[in-house]
Amino acid sequence: MQFTRCYMCEAEGTTTEHVPPRALFPEAKDVQGRNYRIDLVTVPSCPLHNTAKSDDDQFLMVSLAGIIGNNSIGYHHRMTKVDRAIRRSSNRLLDKVLVKKSHSLKIDLNNNRFLEVIWGTPDAQRLHRCFNHIVRGLHFHHFAEPLVGEVRPFLGFLFHSDRSARSFSEFIEHRASLDLAEKTRYGKNPDVFFYSVTEPDQFGLYLFHLCFYGGVNVYAAVIPSHSKRPHDIGFELMNRGIKTFLKVEDKSYEIN
Ligand SMILES: [Zn+2]
Repeated sequence: MQFTRCYMCEAEGTTTEHVPPRALFPEAKDVQGRNYRIDLVTVPSCPLHNTAKSDDDQFLMVSLAGIIGNNSIGYHHRMTKVDRAIRRSSNRLLDKVLVKKSHSLKIDLNNNRFLEVIWGTPDAQRLHRCFNHIVRGLHFHHFAEPLVGEVRPFLGFLFHSDRSARSFSEFIEHRASLDLAEKTRYGKNPDVFFYSVTEPDQFGLYLFHLCFYGGVNVYAAVIPSHSKRPHDIGFELMNRGIKTFLKVEDKSYEIN
């Protein structure tokens, strides 16, 4: 029998893992029988990487479904499956999503249904880990080989109270929109999830775009181990807190 390896490590992939997690896709019973689980992407996974992730799957589901800017499917998912999971956990799930809760407000959605919106500091480190796994899974699926190198997810959906971080976020979105224009969108349930990927640039770097519920955008730069990435002076200045201008087309973004 042919040996199938795990998408994350070199162990044998004896189990099947959904990328992104199946929990993000509404169940038919919650959406009047509509099927949003057509041809979900799966990859082989070793038992270790499969179990290690199931806790993260719930975390990701709660983190993404209620985000402002989502389409109605995202909201609906938040009101049904996600809501049940939160209740079952006596709100512990919600506490895990935000490392610091600042305040919450309730939005009246009519028919006596309310959506609780909670502002706070999301667990960005954990979100990064989740998206790292998703990108590695999609890579394995898309290119039929594991990703050897680094993944740098950029979470475009997070709101930054800091002006400089906001400006950087706008820069990334603008730049990515150019790189991704006309690229094929993959995913049989695009209202829930689709992804696209750019060609490698002259240094071998490329970009994955993940879009959830029509409004949550994640951009992940893939830096293969063999890439000859030059030392990026712009980013170096930025990291040192020096005022830097990043330019895309005619627009200039001021950082720091
Ligand atoms: Zn593994």
